[in-house]
Amino acid sequence: MARPENVTIVGGSLGGMSLAQELRRLGYEGGVTVIGAERTRAHYDRTQLSKDLLTGLAEPESLYLMTEEEVADLGLDLRTGRRATGLSVATGRKSVTVDDGSSVEADVVVIATGSAARRPPFPADLRGVHVLRTLNDALAVRTDLATATNVVVLGAGFIGCEVAASARSLGRSVTVVDLQPAPMCTVLGPVVGNHFAQLHRARGTVLELGTGVAGLVGDDHVSGVRLTDGRVLDADLVVIGFGGVPATDWLRGSGVDVDNGVVCDDAGRTSVAGVLALGDAARWHSPRHGRPVRSEHWNHVSPQATVVAENIVAGAVAADGEAVSRLDALPSFWTDQFGTRTQLVGAPDPEDDVDILAGAPGESGLVAVYTRHGRATAALAVDAPRALIRHQALVADGAPWPRTNGAR
Ligand SMILES: Cc1cc2nc3c(=O)[nH]c(=O)nc-3n(C[C@H](O)[C@H](O)[C@H](O)COP(=O)(O)OP(=O)(O)OC[C@H]3O[C@@H](n4cnc5c(N)ncnc54)[C@H](O)[C@@H]3O)c2cc1C
Repeated sequence: MARPENVTIVGGSLGGMSLAQELRRLGYEGGVTVIGAERTRAHYDRTQLSKDLLTGLAEPESLYLMTEEEVADLGLDLRTGRRATGLSVATGRKSVTVDDGSSVEADVVVIATGSAARRPPFPADLRGVHVLRTLNDALAVRTDLATATNVVVLGAGFIGCEVAASARSLGRSVTVVDLQPAPMCTVLGPVVGNHFAQLHRARGTVLELGTGVAGLVGDDHVSGVRLTDGRVLDADLVVIGFGGVPATDWLRGSGVDVDNGVVCDDAGRTSVAGVLALGDAARWHSPRHGRPVRSEHWNHVSPQATVVAENIVAGAVAADGEAVSRLDALPSFWTDQFGTRTQLVGAPDPEDDVDILAGAPGESGLVAVYTRHGRATAALAVDAPRALIRHQALVADGAPWPRTNGAR
């Protein structure tokens, strides 16, 4: 395909706006339309919503990643507060339908709709009950946190643990409930999960692990959380952190292959020529994992935007054609809890062995390497960025572990 004349991006947050920036950086002069569901500017640092924004160390204005002028300079047709409701690719030319009844025709469509909070399997329509995905969600949690006494967080994943740490550092009584035996252990495994359990318990968070939630108690405002073992926890603020689901409902019937995210090759191209996807909504093929992987971490999005932009500009937008750019970045993420920063590079499996090289679980200074079949798969460091850099190359190369020269 020749260089497309216009591109429509659905989703105006990190993925969508990074792509728009990359297209212009590469000199793309065609039309770029961005359809974004959030009413406010959506290109903000979402990672602060569970951290400094909740504790009051950051204000909304400081989270925006571009000024109004920088956005204007991109020369976009920006449609904020508008939700895409469907995608038609029947005629070869793509058409995105929008919730105001309009439709947008495009040579290339890029899906950057991220993920939505997973809803609980019980009624949760009470005041004082929140999920946390958007700036407005976070401001609502912050308002309730100001007067809350008993905070209960449902789900000990990344966002649940960060919210718990923020609420606890504000002096609230905090309980975290999760079916798993340790926080984040479905992703990071039991050893590192135990690190986070110790980190929280040492600062007074109550962890109800291996326990399910049967439902919420309250008439108009939440007053408690009923556990599956029959106990009821007092709660005047409940934050539901049951993870994210890819925001891909609007693609139903479009012909784009969706399976826990939009299925893409390692160049971001979907099953439909001229439709690409990136960010939390997408599941890119990972040569490193040997399978498609959907990641909900910030660091993956910008490299994907660069790859997608390079392929669009070159007209390489069909998965059965050659790509000019493919993703080869080492996965990485961070999480901040109780003033500690945990960073990870690589692709750990919760079943991997974990070799602790320095420090101890629950403490700042912990450095660990994940290994599988005698090879390093990931490295993790708590407040030890230099140690992480030292081990990054070993992980990238899948180096034998333990190292044969005895060095660690
Ligand atoms: C509270 C929180 C804390 C986080 N902390 C960390 C962290 O510490 N470290 C880390 O690595 N990652 C963190 N993340 C993850 C990181 O923010 C995401 O990986 C990143 O935001 C993904 O960018 P995205 O553009 O793909 O999706 P999103 O940022 O989710 O943006 C998607 C956008 O698409 C819009 N949209 C959805 N459906 C439609 C539709 N039909 N039509 C139009 N627009 C639509 C949404 O409204 C949204 O604005 C955190 C996420 C959250 C929510």
